[in-house]
Order: sequence, then C-alpha cells, then structure tokens
Amino acid sequence: MKIKVIIVTLLTLFLIGCSVDNIKQYIPMLTKTDDTLQKLDSGKAVVQLQEELISLGYPIEATGEYDENTVWAVTDLQLEEDAIYVNGIYNDSVQYIIEQGLAKKFIVQSPYYVPKPEQPDVYTAIIENPYEILSVVNKEFALPSDYQPLDLKVPNVRFPFEEDLPQKQLRKEAAEALENLFAHAENDGLHLFAQSGFRSFERQEQIFTAFAEQDGEEAANKYSARPGESEHQTGLVMDITSESVNFQLTTEFGDTEEGIWVAKHAHEYGFVVRYPKGKESITQYDYEPWHLRYVGTKAATEMKNNNETLEEYLSVTK
Ligand SMILES: [Zn+2]
Repeated sequence: MKIKVIIVTLLTLFLIGCSVDNIKQYIPMLTKTDDTLQKLDSGKAVVQLQEELISLGYPIEATGEYDENTVWAVTDLQLEEDAIYVNGIYNDSVQYIIEQGLAKKFIVQSPYYVPKPEQPDVYTAIIENPYEILSVVNKEFALPSDYQPLDLKVPNVRFPFEEDLPQKQLRKEAAEALENLFAHAENDGLHLFAQSGFRSFERQEQIFTAFAEQDGEEAANKYSARPGESEHQTGLVMDITSESVNFQLTTEFGDTEEGIWVAKHAHEYGFVVRYPKGKESITQYDYEPWHLRYVGTKAATEMKNNNETLEEYLSVTK
C-alpha cells in the first residue's frame, strides 16, 4: 500500500516536472533588468526583446538599442492585441502578449496599425508614431492632422466647469495617472482642478487662428501652438489650476501652494511641467506652470532629477 502511494506521488511529480519543461520550451522567458524597457535603454535585455519581436514577424534589427524601430514594433503590437495601454514601452503586459504570440506561433503582418518609420532615429517634421508616450510634439515636430487617440476617457477629477466638453478627456493611461496625482494632492489637503486636456487638430486650428488675428501669428505662437504642433492633441496633456488663482491658467499658479506641490510631485505619477522657467529657448514656449505632460514615471523622474526638458532628455534640441 505504502509503496503504491510513493509510486503515484513520484509519478505525479515526474509528470508535473515534464509539463513545466514543456511550458518552458514554448515560453521563452525574457530576462529583464528593470520593470520596464523604453527609449534610451540598451543592453542584453533589449537584444532579447528585439529577437522576440523579430520572431513575431517585425522587420527590425537586434541592435541592443531601444530605438525608434523597437518603439514602433512594441506600439504596433500593443494596438494589434488591444493592450491596456498603448505607449511603446515594454512592460509585463507586453511580455505577456509576446509570450502568448510566440506560443501560438503568431506572425504579425503588414499592413501594420502604425506604419513602420521610414527614417529610424531621425525625427521628421510629421511624427510617424503618435501613439508613443515619449513623442516630442513642438514647433519642429507636428502630429498628423488626422491623429486622434483611440483611448480617450474623462478622468475622475475636479473640473471648474460642469459641461461635458471634449477637453475633459485624456488618454487612458494619462487619465489614471492624473486621478492618482490629484488624489495625492487631496490627501495633502490641496484641491487641484483640471481645466483643459485633449484638443483636436480642428479645435487647435480655430484657437490659433483667433489668437493670430488678435496678436499676429508670431506673437500668438509664443503662447499658442499652430495646429498639429499642440501637445494637447496627444491626449497626454492636462492644464491644471486652482481656486487660489480663480481657475485661470496663469504663471501665478506656479507660486501658489498647489503649483509648488505639483512641481514637486508630478513626476511621481509620470507628469512633467513641460514648459519650465529658464528653458524658454529650448521649449520655445513661455513658462507654463499649469501645463502637465504625461511621459511615464521613468522618464519624468529622470527629467526632474536632471533638470531636463523633453527635448534635452531625448537629445532633439536644435
Ligand atoms: Zn496646455
């Protein structure tokens, strides 16, 4: 009797061992150096990721640099598989998608959701991958006029108005991050208000035309973007304010308790004050303490620690 039990137990353990081995054969585990991999990262983990993406059918090279093509393949895969967040960043969710794809011997085919960049690592006048969370939108690099993010939603935060306007929206990932940022502020006894988020190309066109008629094009462009060149079209930006400045978007916001708190804590939730004081020659915009851009916590934290704008961080300054 006892021998039978032992045999059955050993047999069971043997079979479990076999099935684990089988799974391992199908699912190549990626050795990760960090929680995420993104643009500017390099090394063995990036090579491994690139090899996995190549196995899935993406025509890229295993360079070991998380370059424009890697960002593209990850973004396209996220769109292809309806990932929770589409951002061009490799994380656990992307790893899961890759593993499932490899196990099913899934091969990605053209046409892709995002066209492959024609000039990798060269920034072109029209942004080729607008879904990328680190995309630089400024006076040199414009979004396609027909770009409207697919994953817009209204964050559950305070607004100083009641109407259901499109400007309440942000892309899902940024919306959730904003909710967490505002909740932290509430905990610290401060009420932040969201004033203006997503803006379509057409809406920006109307706004800029009105300002240009009033102040002339050149003067207007110091505080307002030409259509396609507004970060608000990314759905990754929220202009925020407080009651202490009457819900205005004004530089005085930077000196309020709320503005000081935001400058200190925004990076913890992946946001940066995109147009800081003293960086006007790089950003080509006046200081805007209210304009928060979502770039993810890794980039936001590095930018804050190094006192860098997005242009400096990605080395795309003129
Ligand atoms: Zn703004």
